[in-house]
Amino acid sequence: MGWVQGQPELDCQLMGNSLFYLHEQIEQWRREGTYQRLRVLESESAAKSRFDGKDVINLASNNYLGLTTHPKLREAAIEATRKYGVGSGAVRTISGTMSLHMRLEERIAAFKRVEACVVFQSGFAANAGTVAAILGPEDHIISDELNHASIIDGCRLSKAKIHVFPHKDVAAAEKILEELESAPGRKLLITDGVFSMDGDIAPLPGLVETAARHGAIMMIDDAHSSGVLGRNGRGTVDHFDLHGRVDVQVGTLSKAIGVLGGYVCGSRDLIDFLYHRARPFLFSTSHPPAVAASCLAAFDVLEQEPERIRNLWENTKYFKAGLAAAGFDTGASETPITPVLVGDAALAHRLSRELFEEGVLATGIGFPTVPKDRARVRTIVAATHTKGELDRALEAFRKVGKRLRLI
Ligand SMILES: *Cc1c(COP(=O)(O)O)cnc(C)c1O
Repeated sequence: MGWVQGQPELDCQLMGNSLFYLHEQIEQWRREGTYQRLRVLESESAAKSRFDGKDVINLASNNYLGLTTHPKLREAAIEATRKYGVGSGAVRTISGTMSLHMRLEERIAAFKRVEACVVFQSGFAANAGTVAAILGPEDHIISDELNHASIIDGCRLSKAKIHVFPHKDVAAAEKILEELESAPGRKLLITDGVFSMDGDIAPLPGLVETAARHGAIMMIDDAHSSGVLGRNGRGTVDHFDLHGRVDVQVGTLSKAIGVLGGYVCGSRDLIDFLYHRARPFLFSTSHPPAVAASCLAAFDVLEQEPERIRNLWENTKYFKAGLAAAGFDTGASETPITPVLVGDAALAHRLSRELFEEGVLATGIGFPTVPKDRARVRTIVAATHTKGELDRALEAFRKVGKRLRLI
């Protein structure tokens, strides 16, 4: 607890107290038990990692396939740094488009079987930048209630009218589109492919049908499905065999791909348009060479080492079965993201803290990331966890779960 950086006592004396309301809010979080200190990673991000001086089984990273430490990605990053330096020097539209960026975009487009692709600095930038660029105030967005914050922010930035439908409710989305039938403006139907806090999969076939019937643009955010679902991790469009029927596919390079970035896949026109109008593309510097090169290597690994995805799903089934057998409520998860629902945020954070003492890192998540009464500890297994590690993690969950009367 307490200050982490700097010498705040000195700074505070110099400043007025116009920001005192922040201090009051933080004090309130402390009283409520929802104040969170950042856990500091002191090793590589891997199946077992060292946080705050303690070696723990890491169930809190999005490094699904263990690519953050893959030798081919490491080598690619080092080689690119030697050859091209550490930075790109500018935004893409000025002088910061390197041949590595173009190769990565071509590689991803081929992998996803689409005409074209644009890479952004992050998945967040890809979502927010794209929605805000392709829609305006006269348009309508029909959005799942559990869509990611970056989609929500993109919707707000576009100034389009936002219509939220209940989670995964295709009929409700259809009804909204029917009511908007004669309304002016374009319509965008948008959903996460895999929902990041619950681990359930979007009803994509139904949504795609609905969008097509009403002439709406169909957009999907495959951040948690990239490298996880579909052949060689091609995502939910491939998983449901809906190639050619989703207008805008967003993916991330920060999760299973193991590096950093986001991308948008679609028609050549869509990508050309984003090159001219997506604000993070125009106004924020492009990836360093090492990032682009290691992402390129990751797509080779996805195709050359399919056993990683098989292991991921085997571990997922094993761990989920263990949690269920122990009596935990894991909600509607269908993917490696498995929430352990506890309800109250303070209890979720306590479960997380006590698991850490038992050698397991799994993050407590409360409002505003999830609704107030749906706090949870979220777990994500990786392809690289051993059965022994999963067994030890399950043992810790049983022990702490009993102590806190969750099971
Ligand atoms: C993580 C996430 C993002 C953001 O991706 P980054 O590359 O980390 O910025 C976007 N959408 C969803 C659903 C996510 O889970």
